[in-house]
Amino acid sequence: MKELVRKNILNLTPYSSARDEFKGEASVFLDANENSEGSPYPIHYNRYPDPRQKKVKLLLSKIKQVKPEQIFLGNGSDEAIDLLFRIFCEPGKDNVIVLPPTYGMYAVQAHIHGTEIRQVPLNSDFQPIPAEILKAADEHTKLLFLCSPNNPSGNLFDTNLIEELLLKFKGIVVIDEAYIDFADASSWSKSIESYPNLVVLQTLSKAWGLAGLRVGMAMASAETIQYFNKVKYPYNIGNATLSIVEEVLSDVAAFNQILNELKTNKKILEKEMDTMEIFKKVYPSDANFFLVKVDNAQETYDFLAKNGVIVRNRTKEMHCENCLRITVGTAEENHKLVEVLNAFSMHKA
Ligand SMILES: *Cc1c(COP(=O)(O)O)cnc(C)c1O
Repeated sequence: MKELVRKNILNLTPYSSARDEFKGEASVFLDANENSEGSPYPIHYNRYPDPRQKKVKLLLSKIKQVKPEQIFLGNGSDEAIDLLFRIFCEPGKDNVIVLPPTYGMYAVQAHIHGTEIRQVPLNSDFQPIPAEILKAADEHTKLLFLCSPNNPSGNLFDTNLIEELLLKFKGIVVIDEAYIDFADASSWSKSIESYPNLVVLQTLSKAWGLAGLRVGMAMASAETIQYFNKVKYPYNIGNATLSIVEEVLSDVAAFNQILNELKTNKKILEKEMDTMEIFKKVYPSDANFFLVKVDNAQETYDFLAKNGVIVRNRTKEMHCENCLRITVGTAEENHKLVEVLNAFSMHKA
């Protein structure tokens, strides 16, 4: 593990915040140059937030069955992706492997950090090809991004393939599970004790319905998480966000109820889409969206947009010619989608 970390990060003395230095009980805090009078806003946000987010991590640790010290919390999982580059990738020297078609942020972050991107396409069933991935890697390959369920294809990667990569890939294996709560599969976070090179990303943006708050997480060995803590901004998540997240995470039953509703809507929509001739293919989905193939993705996209329904045109992505990615909406939104698509078919006939 340690030999994968950049030298400057290994040797870094992290910023020591006031909230880090004093550990104990006190009633007078004159250590952080806050405004002790408060602010014009009625709720008191004049104090800096907990840099370690202990309360939220404790709640998450129960839900995710990992230890609090095995969790990093960030401004979306996008922050975790950024930190992975900061921790492991020496600009101009190291490289990372991504498996197109996949989430665009891995490549964007690689560009930002001056890190070479090696693309090893998924096969036509959207599964990784370990032999090709291992062939593309060298001693400077620090990160391998596996997105499972994958965006935009929607499928989980085969467990055996992931296991093979965890055993044979010499760098960090990042499994992005942004959509895992929609899938009938357990999280790879259960395996962070077995694989020191595994980092699992999850988010509150999708199944938890909190995309607007910006909270994501990385789960890994406590040793790896220590590097995240070293590099992150000390106060990366604000008090307002933390208190809302605490409230939401305290009611798992409410979460499950909304999730089940969404899963029901998804099943209904899938059944309906399977009967519609406009779709040449509806790919099976372990997420809350469908990749669908049509005759002409741009034309279909334009017609939908003109009628107020926005989907994502993925036709330029690998293996995605004339494909759209459609998020499962509310029952009402899905109904509207089907209605507009039917109107499009009539219009074409
Ligand atoms: C939506 C998504 C994310 C979420 O990013 P946040 O920054 O947590 O909102 C991460 N990975 C993938 C593959 C996604 O589709």
